[in-house]
Amino acid sequence: MRTVCVYCGSSPGARAEYRQAAESLAEQLVDRGFGLVYGGAHVGLMGNIADRMLARGGEVTGVIPRALVDLEVAHESLSSLEVVPDMHARKARMAELSDGFIAMPGGLGTLEELFEMLTWSQLGFHAKPVGLLNAVGFYDRLLEFLDHAAIEGFMRAEHRQLLLASQSADELLSLLGTWQPTVVPKLESR
Ligand code: AMP
Repeated sequence: MRTVCVYCGSSPGARAEYRQAAESLAEQLVDRGFGLVYGGAHVGLMGNIADRMLARGGEVTGVIPRALVDLEVAHESLSSLEVVPDMHARKARMAELSDGFIAMPGGLGTLEELFEMLTWSQLGFHAKPVGLLNAVGFYDRLLEFLDHAAIEGFMRAEHRQLLLASQSADELLSLLGTWQPTVVPKLESR
């Protein structure tokens, strides 16, 4: 991996630990020589991770839809900022630029981006690792729900395992680095 895409909240969250987790992930990325691709905003955890990467001399690429440049306050000091026409173009471009994906704590936007990358992986549209930085156990209940969905027969066990998860940025990046794609078809060909 050379470039990691991070999805995270445009809000700061209710605890300082979320910002600390974003900053710690930024430090791990810089230490490992990875560039960051993210949504290009200056707000919330998105701003925290970008600021810490830049402060440590890291490479940061932002990808933001035109309509959100003002709303999310596009970050003005990034290594590069791409302004794209819409949300679909944003996700496609972020995916294209990145060798792996990590979701940090966030809201609906973060979840949407995470699940799109997982469903593309499940369908074999990409073969890149997808991880969840489960800071302060924020995603514990989501992980339990995904286990439930697999037990209830809506997801293959192999597809449940597509989502790598850790509370530690260091461990999560190691998991992403050693991940090997296995092709298990979601749908049998007819
Ligand atoms: P949130 O987790 O809701 O704070 O959103 C995090 C980021 O996801 C923000 O940059 C949102 O603009 C972005 N976002 C929200 N909905 C979508 C979507 N449907 N597709 C792509 N990005 C989105």
